[in-house]
Amino acid sequence: MSKSKVSIVKYEKPLESVRKLVELVNLFDEIPKDAKIFIKPNIVYWNRFSNFPKWGVITSSRVIEDVVVLLKERGIDDISIGEGIVTADIKDTETAADAFKKLGYNLLKERYGVKPINTFEHPFEKIDLGTGFKVNFSSVALAADVVIDIPVLKTHSQAVVTLGFKNLKGLINYASRKKFHSDDPVKDLHYNVAQLPNKLKKVLTIIDGIYTLERGPAIDGKAHRKNILVASADILSVDMVGSKLLGIEPDDVPHLVQAAKDRKRPMDLSDVEIVGEKLDDLASHHEWDFIYNDAGDLPLPLERIGVKGLKYHKYDSSLCTYCSGINGTLLLIIKGAWQSRKGKPFDNVEFLNGKLMEPTPGMNKTILIGQCQYNKNKDHPNIKEMIPIKGCPPSMDDVRHAFSQIGIELPASMFQNITKGGAGFLMAKYKGRPEFEESLFQIE
Ligand code: SF4
Repeated sequence: MSKSKVSIVKYEKPLESVRKLVELVNLFDEIPKDAKIFIKPNIVYWNRFSNFPKWGVITSSRVIEDVVVLLKERGIDDISIGEGIVTADIKDTETAADAFKKLGYNLLKERYGVKPINTFEHPFEKIDLGTGFKVNFSSVALAADVVIDIPVLKTHSQAVVTLGFKNLKGLINYASRKKFHSDDPVKDLHYNVAQLPNKLKKVLTIIDGIYTLERGPAIDGKAHRKNILVASADILSVDMVGSKLLGIEPDDVPHLVQAAKDRKRPMDLSDVEIVGEKLDDLASHHEWDFIYNDAGDLPLPLERIGVKGLKYHKYDSSLCTYCSGINGTLLLIIKGAWQSRKGKPFDNVEFLNGKLMEPTPGMNKTILIGQCQYNKNKDHPNIKEMIPIKGCPPSMDDVRHAFSQIGIELPASMFQNITKGGAGFLMAKYKGRPEFEESLFQIE
């Protein structure tokens, strides 16, 4: 049985570390000079109004430029770099333009002829991922001879890890991303993530673990400087190794279990050969889950401060990216409101989100977050008083209106501040720590 090779290298120096990583597994050796290359970084979040922590969240520009230089050394010229960044407004193209400029992708264009592509400004093609599930996939990525998939070494609060497979979700359009978080008990988010590479011609994966992230995938996670790089031409092998480096067994990651089953592969790395650094020397524990109370109806931090009369159930995998984007904000509002109530319980209020949750009997007010919840439960007999926050995703004005119906008045300016500058305060925890270098996300 031939084994798939995965290389692990410590990041030490620009260019040389990525060169060693790539050469250990001959990653680029079979790419013809005239091949069309599509580089897929991970830009899971961007805010053009304020600085925010990129460490462990976004693929470093350092690794991207090194990959481009190595391709150019091989005479490969047709290179695109593309991402579909999640934004609150579907028509917003300024956020992607700002990200590409500040991450140095425009300089890659000037220096090496690399084409930066906001996938939302290019066509999508409706394809069947091979399971009957149809998605609108980036035509540019589908047309590429090779996709070089460059995720970050990080955890994910729903998918457990987000590495080679999950990073490809950024290549489908808004509607397909919402559909991905399905309420089907079998063909759910995890099943669908495992199918993402199916229609791409060739995928080569490089995991950027210069920084890793606990409780990812976004800016509220906890980053660590780890200086780890991992690569392979086999996406399942590289993701299983990446998962172990995060201290998570691959068989605890549902989409990796599904991908192994689809490929009739074992989960114990017995058919994987690791070259370079030893996995056990670099693996370390990373938390991925947000902890709730035993009943699963209140985040532990809210239970610890004594919140009473309110249920906010733990999200499930049917909650899509767009609604989960407002989840953290709602919990912060509830925390602030509780502190100003001086111990007075809420009036038995329940919040429901995603496509699966159902109302608990005996609650006085039920807040249905998002169109999915409204459609599912609008006529549910357990609801005494319904407060719907319709929209897909809901607007912040609708959120404000719903909160006023449970006695929490919020100024409109608060939401503008959250959108424009709210991420800035998260920079504080990295202040004075020189290992967190902003320059790794720029091209000099
Ligand atoms: S309502 Fe929310 S969870 Fe449902 S598809 Fe729309 S954004 Fe996603």
